[in-house]
Amino acid sequence: MTNNTEDVKRVFCIGRNFVDHIKELANEIPETPVLFMKPPTSIVGPGGKVHFPKHSNDMHYEVELIYKIGREGKATTEEEALSFISSISIGVDLTLRDLQSKLKKKGLSWEPAKAFDESALVGKFVPYDKSIDLKNITFGCSVNGVEKQRGNSSHMIYTITNLIVELCKVWKLYPGDIIFAGTPAGVGPIKVGDTIEVYCDKIGTFAWKIID
Ligand code: ZN
Repeated sequence: MTNNTEDVKRVFCIGRNFVDHIKELANEIPETPVLFMKPPTSIVGPGGKVHFPKHSNDMHYEVELIYKIGREGKATTEEEALSFISSISIGVDLTLRDLQSKLKKKGLSWEPAKAFDESALVGKFVPYDKSIDLKNITFGCSVNGVEKQRGNSSHMIYTITNLIVELCKVWKLYPGDIIFAGTPAGVGPIKVGDTIEVYCDKIGTFAWKIID
């Protein structure tokens, strides 16, 4: 199954964008969005297999909405930012929680815990048109058929247009950049043999299997 990620240039991710998730990890609400990146080589398309990384014993799923950028430039207003969104998908920001906690405690960079191989699970993109209300997208995930997370874009601290403006303060955006917009509460461990499924009525349902 193709998920039109062949043209992905960069993968931007937002940490701590839902209050209920910030609380479950006992983090502070950030004054500006927490931004990090994954390499495009970390992407696994829908229906793919994901190898459990050898450098961790505690991998967590984080279901997130994903927005693809369709034009080059910098957006300075939210209205302008809206014209940068070309399509929307849903996926999983896989996170090595044991390693992330260790790195966080030492004040070190998150890359080994966030940007490892096969860490960005990306579903199929659907074109964004005005019939999709960006402020009311319900999405969720299940592991082995049991629902684990359910969220709505209305609960995002930074809306996608806020985030695009914030990203543009640091980077010029290009067609093919994608943005993982943060996860709601309910994150938890995923193990070898588990299947994770993500769903959103406006986008679709996609699944991945964790293998050794
Ligand atoms: Zn995340």
